[in-house]
Amino acid sequence: MPIRNRFAELLPELAALRRDLHCHPELRFECHRTAKIVADRLRAIGCDEVVEGIGVTGVVGLIRGRAGGRVVGLRADMDALPIHEATGKPYASIHHGKMHACGHDGHTAMLLGAAQYLCETRNFAGTVAVIFQPAEEGGAGAKVMCDAGLMDRFAIQEVYGMHNRPGHPLGEFNIRAGAFYAACDEFRITIEGKGGHAAAPERGVDPVVLSSQLILALQTISSRSADPVENVVLSVCGVRSDSEVHNVIPQRVEMRGTIRTHDAALRARVEQRLHALCEGVALAGGARAEVEFVEGYPVMINHSAETEIARTVALEVSGRCLEAGYNMGGEDFSYMLEERPGAYIVVGAGAGPGLHHPEYDFNDEVIPFGASWYVGVAEARLAA
Ligand SMILES: [Zn+2]
Ligand SMILES: [Zn+2]
Repeated sequence: MPIRNRFAELLPELAALRRDLHCHPELRFECHRTAKIVADRLRAIGCDEVVEGIGVTGVVGLIRGRAGGRVVGLRADMDALPIHEATGKPYASIHHGKMHACGHDGHTAMLLGAAQYLCETRNFAGTVAVIFQPAEEGGAGAKVMCDAGLMDRFAIQEVYGMHNRPGHPLGEFNIRAGAFYAACDEFRITIEGKGGHAAAPERGVDPVVLSSQLILALQTISSRSADPVENVVLSVCGVRSDSEVHNVIPQRVEMRGTIRTHDAALRARVEQRLHALCEGVALAGGARAEVEFVEGYPVMINHSAETEIARTVALEVSGRCLEAGYNMGGEDFSYMLEERPGAYIVVGAGAGPGLHHPEYDFNDEVIPFGASWYVGVAEARLAA
């Protein structure tokens, strides 16, 4: 089961479709045009059932094979990012400040290609549910679809997802069982001091000095509070005071950042240490700290048996599937894997700018690999 010949035939059409989506990027749940194109095409290629509006703009297509068998879900994401495109491509985004910088245009095209193949061949027993979700980039679209009853409504028993990765050889897959993508939490800290004249710091409480102490103290969470072999990263990404001039000590400083972990117990410990350090440093300096911890996507855990299926199919498709390392990025497919067993795989996209870069463009040469993998997984799990 190498790359399917049918995808060589379909490639020009799927690439054209992908470029049209690229030209018209949509953010978060506002994937109205994309969802309509997806739903129309699913109907045109002969899906037995197409349901729109699951999780706002999510679309599900059902393809039935021979009687009996299970229901396998294949998922792609459809949304773009709030980035100014700088690819200079003829099909570059026509929407200022929006672009497909994560390749979800390509993921959508690959799953549409797989759906077409599965409709044409129907060489399986059971049902394939193709799932097109909005809002992977920050909106938890997968969770919203799950909360709308995705899994139960279509009796989905297992689910598979994929992401392209530039900078890795074209068609080289990688995957790991267990924790794969990180839990992504966000924090906002406010240090309330006592502002005043910068020439008389003794009359106030300087939140700038305290915030700099706190930034360094927070770095001891990963170095001193976590087991050295555990994965944790805490990044303070924004610091802002309410003073705009060089000679006023501000009243308050706000900081925000992200925490990434692969383990629930560690995630809880980091949150506890974050609170303790903020309160402790503020107290020592005579200030007050407020901490807001916002839970983001949970850790994405690949299930063992399904990971082996995904790996076997990937090896059949391209002959190359490496053991992946941990990824500190986040992925809302984690919510689907909390509801059903399944696996998520990464496919190499060849050289080029990285994901979320303004010059990134999905490599259409990935389409035959990705579409073949989707089809292979469905046929392997629904073999008669
Ligand atoms: Zn992304
Ligand atoms: Zn992405």
